[in-house]
Amino acid sequence: MIGDRWGLSPDKICWVFNAIIKPIMTYACVTWAPRLLDNKSLMTRLDRAGNLTLLMASGARRTSSQEVLHTLFSFLPASLELEKTSLLQALRLKSLEHWPNLQVDHTVRKSLEPCCYIIDRILNKIFTNYNCHTNDLTKPTNISQKNYTLEINGNDMVPLDPINYIITTYTDGSKHSDDSTGYGVAIFIDKETRMTENYTMKQHHTVFQCEAHALLRASILLNDILSSPSLSEHRVIIYSDSQALIKALSNPYSISKTIIDLHNSLNDTASTHLITIEWVPGHKDHYGNELADKLANIRAVVPNPTLSTNQPNIPHTFFKNKVHKYTNDKKNKRWNNSNISKNTKELVSAIVNRNLQGQHLFKLGFDVLKPLTRLITGHNNLNHFQNKIDFTTAPYCSFCEDDVHETAMHLICDCEYFARTRMEKFGEDPITIDQLMRLTSLTKKKDLTVLLDFIGDYEL
Ligand SMILES: [Zn+2]
Repeated sequence: MIGDRWGLSPDKICWVFNAIIKPIMTYACVTWAPRLLDNKSLMTRLDRAGNLTLLMASGARRTSSQEVLHTLFSFLPASLELEKTSLLQALRLKSLEHWPNLQVDHTVRKSLEPCCYIIDRILNKIFTNYNCHTNDLTKPTNISQKNYTLEINGNDMVPLDPINYIITTYTDGSKHSDDSTGYGVAIFIDKETRMTENYTMKQHHTVFQCEAHALLRASILLNDILSSPSLSEHRVIIYSDSQALIKALSNPYSISKTIIDLHNSLNDTASTHLITIEWVPGHKDHYGNELADKLANIRAVVPNPTLSTNQPNIPHTFFKNKVHKYTNDKKNKRWNNSNISKNTKELVSAIVNRNLQGQHLFKLGFDVLKPLTRLITGHNNLNHFQNKIDFTTAPYCSFCEDDVHETAMHLICDCEYFARTRMEKFGEDPITIDQLMRLTSLTKKKDLTVLLDFIGDYEL
C-alpha cells in the first residue's frame, strides 16, 4: 500500500495508524501491558514496530533516530502509548467500579505481580495516593425521573418578573484564563426581597461545573426559602445561561457525580413546588443574569477565604490531562537524554520552540516531506552522513570549496554557494537557525519547507 512514488499519502498512513492500528494495539491493554513495561528488550521491539509507520509516512531513513522522529511528529513511542492507554483505561474502570479490589500481597515476586498492582503504583506516583472517589466520573446513573421541568427557548425569550406567586432565580458560573473560578446565585422572592450568594471555586473546576454548582446552591437555598408557609403557593423559575447544563440534565442517564447530585437536589426541592429551569441568553442585558454574572466574576477575581460546601469532585479531564503530561514528560526525557548530533538537536529544538512540530506535517505530501525529514534528521545523501556509512565518500561540501562537512545546517546557514539565495530570501548571510526561524516568522506550519528552498532539487 505504501511506496516511494505510489500508494497512500503520508497523512492517510498516519490516519490508518491512528484509527485502525493503534486501537487494535491498545485494545484492553490494561490487562496485559503493565506487566511488560519493565521488559526493556520487548518494549524496544514494540517501539520499533510502531516506528515503522513513522518511517513509512515520513520517508525518513531507517537509521534515523527514533527520538528525533517522535519529537518532530509529536508521536508517542509504542511503549509509552501502551502505558498511557493502560492508565486511562484504569482511571475509567476505577470510577465505574470495575477495578479488582485485591489486597496487596508483598510476598508476590515482582515479575508475577498482577497488572492492577503495577497500575495502582504508577497512579499513586502521578497523583500521590489516587482515590477514585475524588473523581467526578461515576457509573451510569438513571436520572430520568424528574419532578422539575427543563426549557430551552429561542434567543428572544424574556425572563419573567418576580410577581404573581413566581420566585425567579438566576445562576451563573465563571472561569478566567488564569483558572480562577467562581459562581453566583441571585434569588428574587418579590420586587423588594432578594437574596444573593457567591463563592470562589477551586482552580481545577471547569466552567460547566461552576454553572452546575451555582444551580445546586440555588436549589438548596430555595428548598430552605420555600419551607416558609407564606410561600407555599409559589412556583420557581431558575434561569441559567448554560445550555450545556440544561441538556446534561435532560439526559436519561448521567456519568457525572456533579449532575447526579444536582438532579437529586432539584428533585427534592421540586417535590413540593413547581420548578422550571429555563435557558436565558447570556450578555443580553437581562438584569438578573447580569447580576449573577457579576457575582460569579467578583468571586473569581477576589476569592473569599472559605469555600461553599458540597463543591463538585475533580473533573475526569483533570486526571486525564495529568496522565497525558506524565507520558509526554517521559517522552521529553528520552529526547533530552538521547545522543543525537548537536546539529540535529539544535534544529529540532528550534522547530519545537516555535511549536512547528506535529502530525500536521504529514499533510505536506511525500514529495516535500521526504527531503524535509531527511534534512532535519541528518540521515540523508549529503556527504557528511554518507561518509559515516561508507568511508570511501569524503565528508566535505561539494558546493563550496571549503574544508567543511556537508551537513544540512551548513547548507542552510553558511555555505558560500547559497549566499545569494540567502540574502535574497532573508537579507541575512550567514544565518543561524534561530535567526532563520525568527526572520521568516514561521507561523504557518507549511513554512517549514523554507528549509528546503536552498537545496532545491538536490536528491536527499
Ligand atoms: Zn558548502
